[in-house]
Amino acid sequence: MSVIRQQAVERKKMFVGGKWLEGTGKTFEVFNPATEEVIAVAPDATEIEVGAAVTAARAALEEGPWGRMSARERGRLIYKLAQRISEKAEELARLESLNNGKPLFESSRVDLPSTVECFEYYAGWADKIEGETIPVSGPYLNYTLREPVGVVGAIVPWNFPLLLAAYKIAPALACGNTVILKPAEETPLTALRLGELAQEVGFPEGVFNVITGLGPSTGAALVRHPGVDKIAFTGSTSTGQEIMRAAAGTLKKVSLELGGKSPNVVFADADLDAAVKGAVSGIFYGKGEVCTAGSRLLVEEKIHGQFMEKLVERSKKLTPGDPFDSKTRLGPLVSKVQMERVLGYIDSGKADGAPILTGGKRASVGNGKGYFVEATVFDKVDQNMKIAQEEIFGPVLATLRFESLEEAIQKANATVYGLAAGIWTKDVKKAHAFAKGVKAGTVWINTYGDYDAAAPFGGYKMSGFGRDLGKAALEAYTQTKTVWVNLG
Ligand code: ADP
Repeated sequence: MSVIRQQAVERKKMFVGGKWLEGTGKTFEVFNPATEEVIAVAPDATEIEVGAAVTAARAALEEGPWGRMSARERGRLIYKLAQRISEKAEELARLESLNNGKPLFESSRVDLPSTVECFEYYAGWADKIEGETIPVSGPYLNYTLREPVGVVGAIVPWNFPLLLAAYKIAPALACGNTVILKPAEETPLTALRLGELAQEVGFPEGVFNVITGLGPSTGAALVRHPGVDKIAFTGSTSTGQEIMRAAAGTLKKVSLELGGKSPNVVFADADLDAAVKGAVSGIFYGKGEVCTAGSRLLVEEKIHGQFMEKLVERSKKLTPGDPFDSKTRLGPLVSKVQMERVLGYIDSGKADGAPILTGGKRASVGNGKGYFVEATVFDKVDQNMKIAQEEIFGPVLATLRFESLEEAIQKANATVYGLAAGIWTKDVKKAHAFAKGVKAGTVWINTYGDYDAAAPFGGYKMSGFGRDLGKAALEAYTQTKTVWVNLG
């Protein structure tokens, strides 16, 4: 663990109305999950600072230069931010790995480039958001304006802290909104750095704000606040439900990207080596702390033995290690709480009688510190077991079997979730029949876990509603005004 060093504990400030604030002095600790050391303390925002952020965001929207700025100019500013993030990519990737525990390999190869692309993509949209003219009856000109929703509260989780913030901020700004970002209490560091970069490239004060604090206090205060017009949330399904209930009080618009229990389905006619790679990275990428993790592996009965052998062999190579070692592909889970939750699910699978083919316990790396859990594969999982139904959000794979396409679709759909699904087959008909039959917001055919800023992303069923990314996200950050002009 030579590369992970104790960092000086930094005292962070929040970014509100273009200023850096300490808040009331109440703070919370931020950890390095690979060493269990405190690396920073951040302000725990109360209702007062949340109110200050809302006032600043509202003023920036209605009185500041932002509302008067041309759409093209807005796009240029977002593009400048993309460039600035790109210039600082290495630093940001290290910060993300330090705070989240994800291998530097992942944050530098995926999180950062995808964050930059997201801002670039929406920078291009800023001056292409258009209304319509509508041929109504009578002597009227009827047209629509696509206007910003207003002040957007973006509440994001700890698994892709900067990238998921970009999913919300970039389209919200492109549509002319102002934004208050509330990062997860586990991982506020890259969000705060983003505030500095936005300031450096010249966003007018109050257009982009970052407040830090705990979910049930700071997050809930943002959701309750009558001055916030919309909450864009990514996180767990139970928190999504709570947010939706709380948003009813002020009839806020909400979009929710929630949990998943995504099936990855392997047919006997698939390219098995490719499917093994896809199944392993599908669950173990990002330590399994990924909302689209292919956490249910459905294998066709007749190849089951052969497939599992290859899968276990590959999974065994994923030994947990120092996130800053360039060879590491499995880092520590984000927190002690998360590690304990995941170990609890492993115990539940064991108690239900599912055999473990590899992994199954906490891993010791270096000096024995850190929230590492082994890459774990369960076999012979029954659909009704907890490990087949609930989102584990860790490196734990539940394997089920099937014999026909119909059974595969039925099992794929047999959870409350519907975020994503994968299918591996050389049969084009089977692949498309599955894509049609599965209730999921994203389907991957002979691939898994691909994203693009241009491709919409979101859930069916209890995985949420509204779409991030692509043209679809513009819907979530604009509202339509219809104008009637009497020409009679
Ligand atoms: P997890 O269970 O994976 O930690 P959560 O859904 O609880 O995920 O957290 C995602 C984000 O939601 C975090 O930024 C967290 O602070 C925030 N959050 C948690 N509870 C609430 C709440 N009641 N109201 C608003 N935000 C919340």
